[in-house]
Order: sequence, then C-alpha cells, then structure tokens
Amino acid sequence: MMRSAPTLVSTINTPVSPTTYLFQRSMAESKNGIDVFWHEGMLKHETGNGVFDTGMDPGFLDVLEKHPENSDRIRNMVSILKRGPISPFISWHLGSPALLPRLLSFHSPEYINELVKADKEGGKILCSGTFLNPGSWDAALLAAGTTMSAMKHILDGHGKIAYALVRPPGHHAQPTQADGYCFLNNASLAVRLALDSGCRKVAVIDIDVHYGNGTAEGFYQSNKVLTISLHMNHGSWGPSHLQNGSVDEIGEREGYGYNLNIPLPNGTGDKGYVYAFNHLVIPSVQKFDPCIIVLVIGQDSSAFDPNGRQCLTMEGYRKIGQMVRALATEHCDGRLLIVQEGGYHVTYSAYCLHATLEGVLNLPSPLLEDPLAYYPEDEAFSVEVIEAIKKYQNDKVPFWKTA
Ligand SMILES: [Zn+2]
Repeated sequence: MMRSAPTLVSTINTPVSPTTYLFQRSMAESKNGIDVFWHEGMLKHETGNGVFDTGMDPGFLDVLEKHPENSDRIRNMVSILKRGPISPFISWHLGSPALLPRLLSFHSPEYINELVKADKEGGKILCSGTFLNPGSWDAALLAAGTTMSAMKHILDGHGKIAYALVRPPGHHAQPTQADGYCFLNNASLAVRLALDSGCRKVAVIDIDVHYGNGTAEGFYQSNKVLTISLHMNHGSWGPSHLQNGSVDEIGEREGYGYNLNIPLPNGTGDKGYVYAFNHLVIPSVQKFDPCIIVLVIGQDSSAFDPNGRQCLTMEGYRKIGQMVRALATEHCDGRLLIVQEGGYHVTYSAYCLHATLEGVLNLPSPLLEDPLAYYPEDEAFSVEVIEAIKKYQNDKVPFWKTA
C-alpha cells in the first residue's frame, strides 16, 4: 500500500510571497502546469570520488572527480525549476518513501532482502560503479515512493502532467539485479501502480542515453507495457547488464513486439532524434494507444555529458518535450508522467531539463538560451540507421502487420 497522496506545498525551501504562490498554484491547476514531486532526502545518497565513475582512488592523482551520479546535479535541477523562468509553471509536492511491500510489484523478495541486508551491514558494492552506502537505501526508497506518488497524483485525477525529480536513478534496475547506479526501478514501480489501478496499457519512452534494460526486462513478456528506448549503441556492459539494447531484443511471448529498441549512432543529435521520433516512436505509440505515457528522461544524451555521446542540445530536448506532450494529448487525455534518470553534466543537465519541460508545456518561444551552444552534427548516418530499424520493426512487430 502506498501512503496517501502528498499535499500541495508552495515550495520546499525558498519562501515565496502569497501572490507568487497563488500564481504558481493557478498555473499548475490550469491545463498548462507541471506538478513536480521531490524530497531533499534523496540528496543523502553519497557516491564518493574517484577516476570517472569508479569511486576508486588509484593513489597517484591529487584531484579526483565526484562520481557522476552525485547530488550536485540534482541540486541544480531543483534550483533551476525554482528560480528559472519556468518556475511560475511549477507546483512542488513533497515526495515520500516507498513501503517495502509495494517494491515487490516489480522486484523479487530475494533482491529486496539483499538491499535491506546491505543497508543494515553498512553498505555494499552491488556492481561496477553502483555503491549502496549509508543513506543510500533511504534515498532509494524516497526515489521509488516519490515516483509512485507522482503517478498516483495523475491516476487520482489531481493533475495531468507530473515530474518525479528523483535520484538514485532506476531504469537499469532489473527485477533481481542492481545496475548502472540504479537500485530500485522507479519508473517501473510507477507503471506497475498504474496497471494495478486499472490502467490497461502504458507506454514508456526512455530517452536516457543508456538502454533502459531494467524496465525492458521487467515487462519483456507483457503486451500491456510498450517499452521504447532510444540509446547510444553501447551494448552489454557485464554481468549486471547482459542485455545489449539491440533491435532484436524485441520482447517474448505475449510481449513479443512490445519492446522497441532504437540504438542510435554516436552523435545522432537533435535532428536525428526528431527523425527517430517521427518515424519510430510516434507511430508506435499511436498504434499502441496507451492510457498513460511515462517519459523517462536522462540529460546524458546531451552534447556535453561525460557519460554519453549523443549530442542533443536544449533545442532537441525542447522538441522531444513537445512531441511527447502532443502524443499524451492525442492518446491519453493528456496524462504524462516524467521520471528523472541520468544526466551528469552538473550545469547543462539542469538547462536541458528546463528545455524539456518548456517543450512539455508547449511554450511558444524558448524561455532560456542555450549557454553551451551547438555541437556540429550530421544526421545523415543516423537517418540511414533509423530507416534500417524501421524496416526491421515492420518485418517483425506483429502490430505493424495488422491494419
Ligand atoms: Zn544514462
């Protein structure tokens, strides 16, 4: 069982005048606002310092980097939504921790017991780069619970568009396995909640630069959840991530044809992503006709991310936001849950988030200029690859063969 839906709070930390509060509330309660679910307890997940994302100190470097999945990146996402030009469109809601029984809707009892035990024993390295430290488990429970609260808010009819601003991320977490900085699959737990609440079909569109393998794995045999992942063609990365994200990982049994992978060439860029949406994502979601869309976002697809090479700019994120909003309006009575995943450039990720939500709000002109400008791209090769994926899906996906 979930806790009851959190009440509306004007802001988390920053005092606002009554006038601003009323304006914020009226913007969010009108059709063009976003309900953001957040809890600062998620900052308490400490991931350490090291060489890139190892968390390991080789002993011969004076200056180590923070682990990419650090709290600074999220602090900036919170602050840009509070102080950036989009702030009047945002209503803040306090997240809450998930209760253990609810986690079993997606994860196995053995896996949850492993995490609880690791927390009690003071921490554990669960797989490469993925550290459960003191404070991590509480943060993971908050991330899962906050995402489910955001979904419940939509299911209960309190709002149409909600954004779960959460960490640690979740889309690599499989039913029985932690992976890629993820412990609990926040988005998948929200999808399970929607299905358990009577929602017939859910579409998940994952634009994090990495394959949403955990989400795919959890719904691999289901025709009730269409999982679409656009990602860098990084392949498998070891025992915690056996899936390779290729086009032929297409689902099994009843779920055959309901996991659509779109592995994109490095440097695909804004135009390539728009092409992939127009030719693959949008037609699939239209055909599937879900009752809610879950947009899984990672700003690690940006041009400047340490963990990704896909070269999206703010403009690309803005367009993706617009396209997904249009799909939600067309097919789901506007119901759209957005869930935060990766995004490791400490400042640009926040800007890309701002641009994505501007797109979701369908604002007529950009509110924020891109501070890091443009990365040269050539989408011609991406277009070739997307056409090849389209041909493959047309041959293999049963629902393309029916009228
Ligand atoms: Zn990622």
